[in-house]
Parts: sequence; structure tokens; C-alpha cells
Amino acid sequence: MVKKNEPHTLSAFEVSLLEPQEETPPAEPLKWGSTCPHCGQGKLDYNGVLHLECPVCGYEVTGGAGCT
Ligand SMILES: [Zn+2]
Repeated sequence: MVKKNEPHTLSAFEVSLLEPQEETPPAEPLKWGSTCPHCGQGKLDYNGVLHLECPVCGYEVTGGAGCT
């Protein structure tokens, strides 16, 4: 009597290895009206020195596309 091979079922661990890992999408450049990356609540707005600033937490975006 020949014993047939039982169908192999993937364990949850093996499935996790086969599934593609989620990649973090590249951060979009911050612009006016973008959601604050710091608190996630406020929307960035230009302050007095033309820097994007969050009115909620005060996060200020410096550098980037600005002139040097
Ligand atoms: Zn904020």
C-alpha cells in the first residue's frame, strides 16, 4: 500500500514569507495645505517668513524647495 503525499498546506508563517512586504511610499513633498506630518491634524500654512507652519502644533517646515 503506497501512502500518498498529503497536500502541503502553508502555515501562517510560510504565507507571511510569500506575501510581498508592504513598502512605505515615499513621502510627498510638503506644500501649502498638506496635512502636518508631525501631528497629523493641522494643515500647513505659510507663516510670516514664507515657511510652512502647522497652526496646531507649531511644526515648521524648513529647507526643501526654499531658496538658499
Ligand atoms: Zn502639526
